[in-house]
Amino acid sequence: MTYEIRPYRAIHRRKSRQIFVGNVAIGGDAPISVQSMTNTPTTDVQATIRQVNECAEVGAEIMRISAPDQESSMALAKIIPHCPLPIIADIHFHYRRGIEAAQAGAKCLRINPGNIGSNEKVKEVIKAAKDHGCSMRIGVNAGSLETDLLAKYRTPTPEALVESAKRHMKILEDNDFFNFKISVKASDVFLAVASYKALAEACDYPLHIGITEAGGFTAGTVKSAIGLGNLLWQGIGDTMRVSLSADPKEEVKVAYQILKSLGLRHRGVNLISCPSCARQGFDVIKTVEAVEKRIEHIKTPLTVSILGCVVNGLGEAAHTQIGITGGGSGRHNVYMDGKPHHKITSEELIDHIVELIEKEAQKNGQN
Ligand code: SF4
Repeated sequence: MTYEIRPYRAIHRRKSRQIFVGNVAIGGDAPISVQSMTNTPTTDVQATIRQVNECAEVGAEIMRISAPDQESSMALAKIIPHCPLPIIADIHFHYRRGIEAAQAGAKCLRINPGNIGSNEKVKEVIKAAKDHGCSMRIGVNAGSLETDLLAKYRTPTPEALVESAKRHMKILEDNDFFNFKISVKASDVFLAVASYKALAEACDYPLHIGITEAGGFTAGTVKSAIGLGNLLWQGIGDTMRVSLSADPKEEVKVAYQILKSLGLRHRGVNLISCPSCARQGFDVIKTVEAVEKRIEHIKTPLTVSILGCVVNGLGEAAHTQIGITGGGSGRHNVYMDGKPHHKITSEELIDHIVELIEKEAQKNGQN
């Protein structure tokens, strides 16, 4: 289904240069890519492969894996061949881990060149990145700012985060390396948004956006939606990670929900449903929960409305491919492409909705 772009919906994306993480383009006119990070021990090769694949199944396009020690960076060589998407190695401090990760097949290194020591070490990491087709991410975080910047600004501020990012940028640029993206994350929504806005004005590198350490599933989802939604609405952001104290799959799903809400990506089912009330003709909440679980695998963009009665149900069904409104006597109305189509009983409702969605997805060439 194509969405009509109305003037009040238009988002003008910041113009950024384009880099690649493996085969995934980031920046320029590339779609805003969704990434997450494994939380298994990297040395547990099978568990890490499983988690990467689970995240890919729900739409992750890039995954990041920590390489805190040599065992982990070596394990990447066993993990990466079994991953269906490009892997970013997360490196802190030790330059050798960066080199090992590049040799193991990582397609991007999340590494801050200012934190790994002498310029000779930086040069070695850059050489490994160039030799193995790796891009890099400079990842500034309000929680780990350089001590001199903390002394200068007294507390993490947008200026401090951007100054830190510029230092790392300069090191890479001075070494003739421009194949990188940048993040300036903070758990505070105001600080993160202001920092990204300032960084977006200061350079044209692609930006990886995130509200770091956003919290548990509900709080972190709300915080991320406010912070990342604010940035994306202003056209800022080329790739994103939602950081939740939850299963990484949930991060991916939340990221898509944010992008779908802003009309920036259209993966899977956009489900419109009502909160239900005494007018409901069937148990809306139970139905939506069951349907949501069973359609997680659908990739085709579809809009589906499930409303408990005709009060708002008719208006919503008019704009969806599949619409359900609760009717009297346990018989409910099904609309296809906005038009009344047939009726269905409460008992058959969940299976029937799932079947309709799967059929519609197949009709559109994918599922
Ligand atoms: S659509 Fe009907 S059932 Fe749902 S909340 Fe509105 S009035 Fe209640």
